[in-house]
Amino acid sequence: MIKIRGEAKVAYVDGQACEFEEGETILSLVDRLHGRGHIPTLCDAPQLESYGACRVCSVEIAQSENGSRRVVAACHTPLTESLHVFLESDRVQRLRRNIVELVLTDHPLDCLTCEVNGNCELQTVAAKVGMRSVRYPEGKHHMDREKDLSHPYMTSDLSKCINCSRCVRACDEVQGQFVLSMFGRGFESRIIKGLDTSFANSDCVSCGACAQACPTSAISDIFRSKSIEPTAKTRTVCTYCGVGCNLEVSTKNNEVQSIQAPVDAEVNHAHTCLKGRYAFRFYNHPERLRSPLIRRKGEFVEVSWDEAYETIVDRFREIRSKWGADAIAGISSARCTNEENYLMQKFIRAVIGTNNIDCCARVCHAPTAWGMQQSFGTGAATNSTSDLEKTELILIVGANPTHGHPVTGARIKQRVMKGVPLIVIDPREIELVPYAQYHLQLRPGTNVALLNMFAYFIIEAGLVDESFVNERCEDFEIFREKIKQLDIDELERVTGVDRKLVREAAIAYASVSRAMSFHGLGVTEHSQGSKTVMLISNLAMMTGNIGREGVGVNPLRGQNNVQGAADMGVQPHQGAGYLNVTLPEIQEYYEKSYGVSVSTDIGYKIPQMFDAAKEKKLKSLWIIGEDVVQSDPNSADVIKAMTSLDFLVVQEIFMTETAEYADVILPATSFLEKSGTFTSAERRVQRVNAVVEPLKGTKVDGQIIVDVMNRMGYKQEDYDPAVLLREISEVVPFFKGIRWSELGENGKQWPVVEDGTDTKILHKETFKRGRGKFHFWDWVESQEIEKNSEEYPFILTTGRILEHYNSGTMTRRTGNRVICGEDILAINPRDAADKGIETGDYVRLFSSRGEVQLHAKVSGEVKPGILYTTFHFPEHLVNNVTSEEKDEESLCPEYKVSAVDFEKVLRDNEEMNIKEGAERMKETTSSVDG
Ligand code: SF4
Repeated sequence: MIKIRGEAKVAYVDGQACEFEEGETILSLVDRLHGRGHIPTLCDAPQLESYGACRVCSVEIAQSENGSRRVVAACHTPLTESLHVFLESDRVQRLRRNIVELVLTDHPLDCLTCEVNGNCELQTVAAKVGMRSVRYPEGKHHMDREKDLSHPYMTSDLSKCINCSRCVRACDEVQGQFVLSMFGRGFESRIIKGLDTSFANSDCVSCGACAQACPTSAISDIFRSKSIEPTAKTRTVCTYCGVGCNLEVSTKNNEVQSIQAPVDAEVNHAHTCLKGRYAFRFYNHPERLRSPLIRRKGEFVEVSWDEAYETIVDRFREIRSKWGADAIAGISSARCTNEENYLMQKFIRAVIGTNNIDCCARVCHAPTAWGMQQSFGTGAATNSTSDLEKTELILIVGANPTHGHPVTGARIKQRVMKGVPLIVIDPREIELVPYAQYHLQLRPGTNVALLNMFAYFIIEAGLVDESFVNERCEDFEIFREKIKQLDIDELERVTGVDRKLVREAAIAYASVSRAMSFHGLGVTEHSQGSKTVMLISNLAMMTGNIGREGVGVNPLRGQNNVQGAADMGVQPHQGAGYLNVTLPEIQEYYEKSYGVSVSTDIGYKIPQMFDAAKEKKLKSLWIIGEDVVQSDPNSADVIKAMTSLDFLVVQEIFMTETAEYADVILPATSFLEKSGTFTSAERRVQRVNAVVEPLKGTKVDGQIIVDVMNRMGYKQEDYDPAVLLREISEVVPFFKGIRWSELGENGKQWPVVEDGTDTKILHKETFKRGRGKFHFWDWVESQEIEKNSEEYPFILTTGRILEHYNSGTMTRRTGNRVICGEDILAINPRDAADKGIETGDYVRLFSSRGEVQLHAKVSGEVKPGILYTTFHFPEHLVNNVTSEEKDEESLCPEYKVSAVDFEKVLRDNEEMNIKEGAERMKETTSSVDG
């Protein structure tokens, strides 16, 4: 008997007894027994729900071996106890052949020149059912269908369409975009985009799910992703956001051809966003840095690696001996692997001798790490994204997942469309708002006030999980008393959100038995960012939403490996494994591991590095993969810091705004050219595998660090992720059981104990810190508003757009730029009317720090008084305008609240046009007059 685990019933497949799970279909059982493709199908795909349209998967069933048989579609017929299934009877074989024959009557038989020849599912199925010839006259409908090559990525040739609806269902069930639909009836049926427009003019978000689902070449992409041409396929992990999507990369002659999403990837199940699937051509872009550069007489000149290394080592040694180790600092990269980040912090701590090490978490989720550590003891997501399948309510605070974390965003959208209530707390009407039950559209900077109201109404409604709080938490009574004393009238006024709405949403959150929260930079990038994180933790604890499936506090971490960078000790107060560097016993622990003495003084955080540089206390900085001039607030001030340094090393893949100020530039490699591990937002440590060789002239970041370590006299083996992971497992307690060879395709979620068992849910029995701690914080107005709002009465809040990633260094060098090529300012219609601005007008946006000019979009997505834009384009440098205020605890910049004003301006060419027009008008008028 073929057995399965757990409770099972028995059915018979071609006479063989097989156990099946309740609800399992015939097709899923046979796929499990014999592998996919044993029963031919056309409309079925593993990433889609059963559809039962094509009937190619027809089988016969009977209640007994010799009972009367009937034909059913295997894909959507559930098994029942003692059912007999006959897979290959004459009747079903004839039926399958006839169906495929009818499909082929109206399909071009140009297989040899088709892009998917050899990988076409129709071709495979036709061969499997034994098709040799088509008896019917050729249909003409496919001939009328033109190719659509309008889009930078997506293509269609609907002459190849077999009307299986897989693309339509992928767009609906995977992405939730509803761009594709089946139009017409009978022979006239065809796929349309939007209201029968092109890909380029539709609302397509280029996720490629339709192209991957299409069994033929009817829908494809410019990379011909389903072609069999490539010679090798390598599995790796996306380099953009913290979702951690797995990618299957096809290569030929050491060049990337295309990327698909593995169906068995636990994180992304055959799905990606357009960044992961299509935005890869930056990796061999002509502008890639291909040689070390040294600035001489104001110009960069190409030098050998040896010369670059010698310069770096000489200058570091000189600065250290003259000014001490604390005059040197490093900024490591969340784009780099865990192993590289571990090496960089080790270099700064063990070789230079300071704790001056930090990374971009400082400008995104440092408040999450700090805040959650105060509440729970661990600064990482408590649950797994797959818990979305179990939760009964989703709370999103200050995040725009469909743009920032698109695969998780799509998953949230799917759950909400299936009836899971959604609460959105955000100043902007983000894409998920129309799906939400509650949108609490607060004024930027008032998260603490709103979440305190939320807690107030939960307490008032008697919905606190008293037993959870009593058994597992501390300081709740202090918190409760403080919350009860709040002035709700005042909080309603400052947030601008109707208390009734807050009350209803709070009661909805506290009334379900499983509520899951997600938060993003709209929480952390505030002066009260860390406090807001602790309040979100409070909400989870007071409702018992911790330590189980479908609950928890789940930060949507920004960059692909920002979680890993922090885990590896890329922060100035905690070393690898979040151990407190100031404690003598920890100092001893690291000294034993690194074999040298280490400092117990807390190092500089990034903003402190900039201040120290301007004060001439910090003399040298080594920045890896971080464009601080573009991505940190108040660009002019960051430039001042860069130019104040005696010696700046920038390790990058492109010349960036920051690299322009470097003394030495080291050409590094992208994720496609190296191996290591990334840790995703759900603590999942996954293997990143080199797909192509590093571009000539470049080096793997980890090897560069090792080279400098060795030249500075510290013996470190050449970069090898397997060896380094072993070393990390000896230093980082929650990596104890992680081995390169045992990570498998889907990785492991830390903590991983010695025997290799990983952890999907944190804080199940007790919190990492023992008891979960409640903190009360009063809302205070941002200093930015206090100081500047009279002169600059509007609040600017910034964020990311789907097509681009942060400073856009990579995405701006791909087809994504064609889809979105500039930062745009969203203005409420009322404010736009007051200033005489229409969509498309050019606007000067200014603050006390500086100004930028952007095109306007008049939009109800923001309330009156609020403006919104992205910060992806150095041409605009939006961070010229943003505030210098910071989170009080972590020093994360307050990007989300900048006091600004704006006015309509004319661009130079528009002014020219108007001047020319006026001249022409004058000429015409005078000639008429004459
Ligand atoms: Fe990459 Fe994030 Fe998109 Fe997944 S959702 S493909 S990890 S950018």
